[in-house]
Amino acid sequence: MKDDYAIHWFRRDLRVAGNMSLQKAYQQYGKKVVCVFFFDSNFLKRDDFSHNRFQFFLNSLEELKKELTLIGSDLIILDTIPKKGFPELFEQLKTLPKKVFFNRDYEPFARKRDEDVEKILSKHKVEIETSNDHLVIEPHQLNKPTGGQYKVYSPFARKWLEIFNDNDEIQNRLELQQNSFKYLEDLKKQKAKRVYNLSWADVLNKKMNDQLETFMSKNKKHVTVDIPPAGSLRAFEVLKAYAKKVDEYKNQRDFPAVDGTSRLSIYLKNGSLTTWQIIAYLQLKTYKKKITGKETFFSELIWREFYYHILFHYPEVEKAPFLKQYENIKWENDKKKFELWKEGLTGFPIVDAGMRELKTTGWMHNRVRMIVASFLTKDLLIDWKWGEKYFMETLLDGDLAPNNGGWQWAASTGCDPQPYFRIFNPWLQSKRFDLDGNYIKRFISELADVSSKALHQPILDHPKYPKPIVEHSEQRLKALDIYKDCRK
Ligand code: FAD
Repeated sequence: MKDDYAIHWFRRDLRVAGNMSLQKAYQQYGKKVVCVFFFDSNFLKRDDFSHNRFQFFLNSLEELKKELTLIGSDLIILDTIPKKGFPELFEQLKTLPKKVFFNRDYEPFARKRDEDVEKILSKHKVEIETSNDHLVIEPHQLNKPTGGQYKVYSPFARKWLEIFNDNDEIQNRLELQQNSFKYLEDLKKQKAKRVYNLSWADVLNKKMNDQLETFMSKNKKHVTVDIPPAGSLRAFEVLKAYAKKVDEYKNQRDFPAVDGTSRLSIYLKNGSLTTWQIIAYLQLKTYKKKITGKETFFSELIWREFYYHILFHYPEVEKAPFLKQYENIKWENDKKKFELWKEGLTGFPIVDAGMRELKTTGWMHNRVRMIVASFLTKDLLIDWKWGEKYFMETLLDGDLAPNNGGWQWAASTGCDPQPYFRIFNPWLQSKRFDLDGNYIKRFISELADVSSKALHQPILDHPKYPKPIVEHSEQRLKALDIYKDCRK
């Protein structure tokens, strides 16, 4: 009908290019689509809230708002929870939208939020249409042939690749990503077309105040690291640059001194870029063994989907170990040691370099994430949940599913984890993956003059750098004992 229009509700899909739900809104309502984002400022009080990550999120929203205005639509950012926000917004509208579109989310909190909103929208007789955007294969699409859910990565990945390969819809959708790249190239040259023609001013009776500026000015004061450039255009540039290096991924990905990984996690987290686009752009193909750089890279994207799958089917992992026998591990939970770990003052250079990288940049290399997580749980005997929370407070790419998955893997409490008796030796890890000490020296300036060899063993007489706070071989035995105790 002439006056029908739609709302696209943005959540963690902060882009226009190839945004599935936005595309559907366009297909059905043509130029008549406006967009909304709700953020409740009470969220800022959460104890794992990260001002740094929020700043990146706000910058991404700012880019998105500019882009939407350029192509003829509009985005309003409101300070309220969506279940209150929609009715408040509806009260101010000349006519209600015909439909609200959004992309599906899989976290327990998000699923509850969406259920609540769906009830409210139905009460207002506003239609709803949801899409898959964030993952390639959604958790409900992938079950064991014998029934039940996959809990081990390898069979999950095999099934994932089988579906990926055989599903025409997936293959067609990957081909369509070329349009999203063309759109982004046009956007870069400032040649993107005005596809929409509706603003909030057209549909509102009374002006509602957009809260982006307020959030920005409040949050900026608390930012402690350099925030990388945000937005889908930037994410695409990072992807394009990485395409030139991906063949080396297999050889380089484990060495933190080398710039050998994509750095795309931060953009994937808020949907400035999707796995669909990465797979299409890099032309990743199904594989049997991880022989090439591209295949190994592809398998990491599937790890990400695996952790979403686990969180969706076993939401209890958010608060508890996946393996129930480890619910009552007798952690020592020494607060002083935890502080030294956070500050990068444990006397284990590879661990300290990682923790200082995290604190000063908001990012940490994957190999080092594994080392510091193993160290916290199995050398310091501190509950993985403490480390998980600290990572959420500090990581710019902090994301519940892969963060929880990574921590539970390292702590041996997750599904398909590192076996409890396989304990990383931080000295050997450091020698193997940072032999020349370039990574360590980049983040621990006081060790600049120490020989590379000396960095992979206890440093006992340095004027500025601490002695190791624990003895690895002793702690290893203690860790084995506390894990074995739970298995009796
Ligand atoms: P690349 O090596 O270029 O990989 C490409 C993409 O694959 C990544 O962007 C990511 O989406 C995915 N990926 C890579 N490795 C993994 C993995 N081990 N598990 C799941 N997905 C993976 N990743 C997050 O996105 N957010 C987190 O909060 C997070 N916390 C982690 C905590 C721990 C203890 C561990 C061990 C890992 C964690 N990871 C997390 C996974 C991984 O470390 C990061 O995804 C990766 O370092 C991001 O850098 P990149 O984009 O250069 O990765």
